[in-house]
Amino acid sequence: ARRNFAYDTEAIRAKDVAHHVHPWTDFADFEKTGSMVVAEAEGATIYDSEGQGYLDGIGGLWCVNLGYGRDEIAQAMADQARRMVYYSSFGHHTSVPAAELAAKVTGLAPAGLNHVLFGTGGSMANDTAIRIVHFYFNRLGKPRKKKIITRHDGYHGSTYLAMSLTGVAFDHQGFDLVGEELIARISAPNCYRRPAGTTEAEFLDLLAGEFEAKVLELGPETVAAFIAEPIMGAGGVVVAPAGYHRRIWELCRKYEILYIADEVVTAFGRLGHFFASEAVFGMQPDILTCAKGFSSAYAPLSGTLISDAFHEVISVPQAPGALFTHGFTYSGHPVCCAAGLKTIEIMEREDICGHVRRVGPYFERRLKSLSDLPLVGDVRGSHFMLCVENVADKETKALLPGEVQIGKRIAAAAQARGVLVRPIAHLNVLSPPLILTEAQIDRMVETLRD
Ligand code: PLP
Repeated sequence: ARRNFAYDTEAIRAKDVAHHVHPWTDFADFEKTGSMVVAEAEGATIYDSEGQGYLDGIGGLWCVNLGYGRDEIAQAMADQARRMVYYSSFGHHTSVPAAELAAKVTGLAPAGLNHVLFGTGGSMANDTAIRIVHFYFNRLGKPRKKKIITRHDGYHGSTYLAMSLTGVAFDHQGFDLVGEELIARISAPNCYRRPAGTTEAEFLDLLAGEFEAKVLELGPETVAAFIAEPIMGAGGVVVAPAGYHRRIWELCRKYEILYIADEVVTAFGRLGHFFASEAVFGMQPDILTCAKGFSSAYAPLSGTLISDAFHEVISVPQAPGALFTHGFTYSGHPVCCAAGLKTIEIMEREDICGHVRRVGPYFERRLKSLSDLPLVGDVRGSHFMLCVENVADKETKALLPGEVQIGKRIAAAAQARGVLVRPIAHLNVLSPPLILTEAQIDRMVETLRD
């Protein structure tokens, strides 16, 4: 696809390189090549400022779930901005869309998650979760119960605390983290790289055993919460062995540890349901965080959903005048909430979750057909959250020399053929808009094979 544009690409690039600090970017490399200026977009296709179209296999950043150019969402946001752009929801004010969205999203959420605190991104939602957990145990008179168990290769965001919860070692280089007094780490449930000779069921026993041993080592009276993505995203689309989340959740119950489900990627349809925790993994987290698909990326919007039991404890005033001193200027921003409401309305009307449940298995099957290639060690994931792991040797699973380059080289070669896939180290990740058709899936997979 091509369009005719009149953007001054060179001038835009020059300003960008000189002044724009890009997140998560290799500056030296970027200054040499500059950026692709993404100028316009429609459906599942983005266009650079020269008019070249690309099928977006990344969904922006696992977030443009309904695809680009949805007039209805733009209109709902514009209407709200004209009617009443902003008023704070601190204290005794609210807005129509904030109240409506709070009721709507908690109605769709797993049982008992009847309350939501809004924010503007996944990191903020996770920071909020940890702050509330600490507040909760302080209120219960258990000020020692503060540690958070997290997993190697989990990704929870990029604020100081969210990055400290994150377990991707590569992401930690050069920065400081919150220390061991707060964070403890356990293994990633990576079935592809599980100990040789173990079955998936044995691997599950090992992981559950490791979790319980960690709780006992730290002392259950010091462990406040466990945080996990239903399927690890940025850490390599890691699908845990069957029954993992339920098993860990039961152990959390045993030791009075709160389970925080980080559904920043998986909520709002990516796995074929509004939320994956209960519908796919059969458990009810105490706290659930979501962002990205919440507004289909039309506006910054996140939610930290909390259970009734939890809300009861944190909402009971104790010391006279004591406040719940947490929240942000843009918590419940009316324009963002209007985008969220319209997103959910469209998802329901177009049965986006049904589409993902129907087409997702086709996507998985088609991508798995690449397994015959000598480079492809593993194809994994679920529905619209998939990845290809590239290796040097399929038997030993050894990585290629200069392993990070292969993901980038494949992504660059696909881009030259009009398809965008995301490189993460030696992996290529696919998280396209949820509206993708079988024909678009075929094109993506054939491009990758090529
Ligand atoms: N949690 C998960 C599982 C994520 O994938 C991400 C971002 O990719 C985040 C949290 C952080 O979200 P944000 O970048 O909106 O702060």
